[in-house]
This record gives sequence, structure tokens and C-alpha cells, in this order.
Amino acid sequence: MKVAVSGFKGRMGHEVVKTVLKEADLELVAVVDHEPKEKNIREITEFSTLDVPVFGNLSEMLDEIKPDCVVDFTTPKVGYSNTKTILEHGVSAVVGTTGFTPEQIEHLREIAESKKIGALIAPNFAVGAVLMMQFAQKAAKYFPNVEIIELHHDNKLDAPSGTAVKTAEMMAETREFVKQGATDEVELIEGARGAEYEGMRIHSVRLPGLVAHQEVIFGAEGQGLTVRHDSYDRISFMSGVALSVRKTKELETLIYGLENILD
Ligand code: NAP
Repeated sequence: MKVAVSGFKGRMGHEVVKTVLKEADLELVAVVDHEPKEKNIREITEFSTLDVPVFGNLSEMLDEIKPDCVVDFTTPKVGYSNTKTILEHGVSAVVGTTGFTPEQIEHLREIAESKKIGALIAPNFAVGAVLMMQFAQKAAKYFPNVEIIELHHDNKLDAPSGTAVKTAEMMAETREFVKQGATDEVELIEGARGAEYEGMRIHSVRLPGLVAHQEVIFGAEGQGLTVRHDSYDRISFMSGVALSVRKTKELETLIYGLENILD
């Protein structure tokens, strides 16, 4: 499959480039950056023979190169418009960029279906994180008192993380509604109790040295349960990205969430 990478200079994009180069059935055909300083990338770490065109404009790349799939890891500001551009060109998309609203995902799904192409958007491509979300969803049925603590590096632009929102959405499907905390609780400093989603509280920690981590803490009378996942390295996301790229060939719709393509 001919694969292009949008946001190739970023932390995730760089890792995706290395992954595409390593996988025998995937061919890196182009990369996109919004402010490119070079025409070709010739060296990325150990792959010194590389010579791939660099585009400053996604549409131009799609018109000229016609890849089978574009992997996008850019920023929440441009994630939606980039995905729309890719799908409108009739090209498959695998998108890890976070910050999509449910309405945007629905609109992108309509475009994918009208063009009969496959696409996958996932707030987390780490298989362990998907399992963490599924375990949390299962536990929420029996433990409706729950709070999420997500922890990321301090260059992350959006809060709460896409993974935390997705976890809360999944738990809301199995959990009986409970508003966390005392009914008459007061925040002495604004934000002390975190963000609220369907009565659940989400707390975002940003520190240098972290990659992507999440704890889902359940409490009940006399017992507690914690489900935790840690991505110590961005390589943890790459098997999910490669699987998703291959999966788009079989799809004629957009799928949201890696869990929906795992057996
Ligand atoms: P990052 O290091 O800031 O990389 C983003 C890259 O995109 C930067 O090189 C940025 O360039 C570039 N960019 C910005 N606008 C662009 C545009 N219009 N076209 C092409 N490139 C553009 O961020 P990151 O840590 O790699 O994360 C990227 C996204 O993936 C974030 O939304 C993050 O939350 C998400 N993420 C998802 C997963 C997952 O598993 N789904 C895992 C980790 C992160 P400049 O720096 O020059 O602006």
C-alpha cells in the first residue's frame, strides 16, 4: 500500500514514518508538513537511502501522488479539515489526531460512505489502552462511582485527552448515572474537581517526562478498583496504526476507535 504521512515532523508522525519504512507491505510515498523547509526527506535515523517528496499542502500531495492511505497526526485545530480533504479526494485515512466532535466524526463517516472508502479515527492506537477502556467499561456497570486521571507530556495541546473522553463515553453506556462527590461540595479553587462528563470527573495532569498514561479509579463501599495503562514510548501506538492502515482496504465506511477492528 502506498502510504503518505501528514505531520511527519511531529513526535507521532516521525514514529509513523519509521514504522511505514519498516513494514514490507507498506511504501512511504510522500510526507506533508505545513511549513516544509526541504523538498525531499533523505535521512530519517537508520534509513539513510530514503528519498521521499515533502509537500507543504495536503491537497497538492493528494492530487499529485494519489496514495492509497494517508496517516494524519497533526493538531486538533486541523485534524477535521485534513481528514475531510483526504476523504474528499477518495483516499483512505488513518487519523490519530485528537479533538474531533461526534458531529464531525458523523460527517466524515458520511463522506467515507459516499466515496466507498475506508477510514479509521482512533484517540488511542495502543492495544493496551483499548483493553484498559474495555475493562473500565465493564467495571462501570458494577462500580458507577468512578473518576479518570489522565497523564500526558506537557506539550500536549488539548485537555482532557481523546482517550479520557472516549473512556467516559464508553462507561456512560454501561454505567448508571451518578454525580461524583457530595451533592453540596464546593470548589475552593476553580477546576479542583476536574472536568465533568455525565457526572464522572476527569483530571488532566501535564508533566515533562510523561508520554501517555491513564488511570480509571472505581470506588465502592469497602473496596476500590484501579485500571491503569501506560504508554512509555510512542512505539506502543505503532502496531495499531499499521493494522489500521491495512484494514482501510477492506472498509467502505469510517470506524471510530481501534477496539472496533480488533478481534
Ligand atoms: P506534535 O509533536 O506537535 O506534532 C504535530 C505535527 O503536525 C507538528 O510537526 C506540526 O508542525 C504539524 N502540523 C501542524 N499543522 C499541520 C498541518 N496543517 N499540516 C501538516 N502538519 C501540521 O504532536 P504529537 O505529539 O505528534 O501529536 C499529534 C496528535 O496526535 C495530537 O492531536 C495528539 O493528541 C495525538 N496523539 C494521538 C495518539 C493516538 O494513539 N491516537 C497518540 C499520541 C498523540 P509545527 O510543530 O510546525 O506546528
